[in-house]
Amino acid sequence: MHTPLCGHASGAPEEYVQHAIAVGLKEIGFSDHAPLLAYQDPGIAMDIAQLPLYHQMIETMRAKYADQITVRVGVEADFLPGFEDGTRQMLAAYPYDYVIGSVHFIAKWGFDDPIQLTEWDQKDVNEVYREYFKLVRQSALTGLFDILGHIDLVKKFNFHPTEDMTDEIQANAEAFRTARVVIEINSSGLHKPAGEIYPALDHLKVYRAHGVPITFGSDAHKPVQVGRDFAKARDWALAAGYSEYVMFEKRRIVRTVKL
Ligand code: ZN
Ligand code: FE
Repeated sequence: MHTPLCGHASGAPEEYVQHAIAVGLKEIGFSDHAPLLAYQDPGIAMDIAQLPLYHQMIETMRAKYADQITVRVGVEADFLPGFEDGTRQMLAAYPYDYVIGSVHFIAKWGFDDPIQLTEWDQKDVNEVYREYFKLVRQSALTGLFDILGHIDLVKKFNFHPTEDMTDEIQANAEAFRTARVVIEINSSGLHKPAGEIYPALDHLKVYRAHGVPITFGSDAHKPVQVGRDFAKARDWALAAGYSEYVMFEKRRIVRTVKL
């Protein structure tokens, strides 16, 4: 779940919490876009100076709704090669229940940014996919992140490779297992041009075969999107062979829950 602090989400944190309660969720977490250390863009991510307010807002919600729902504080941090130390310092400055690591950039290209969509026309889609999957693999191995977010985000605009990517997915599954990271089943892809949950079902089966645990995210950028399509996300997990998912507190898996 995001907050308006990232510059492209709307609705007060309280509305997100209230919608979560209304749809019957028992535990949620905010995970707004952490400050981008390599780029400055108030329409993409929070600024360092906003972090105290971010934590204060969530703490207020956590306390106010404690008897109705558990509210966790997370963050979605970009994997930016070369900025690992800065990212580590930024994440250590506040207590988090979980950190989601995401790849939104290939070099300086924000490949999932609608404003940078035309750049796809100049690219070799197979190469973009291979570069993307390699970055996801590297992000896992940094040890910076607890959960990897939307791990085939590269499909967002419905550009698909002509080459078989099985080797990339196998390599990623092995890296995830080695790094002991958890992956996110993200329902927001259903509402993007790709029209499919992240990650693809055939990928998820490979991750399942490697014993990589899962969490669920709706990647809400508006209150009504909280928990959206979670029934479909659950079915997706079941279809891949999963029987449980995990819950985080203080950057550790504290519970495993039956699907
Ligand atoms: Zn966002
Ligand atoms: Fe993201």
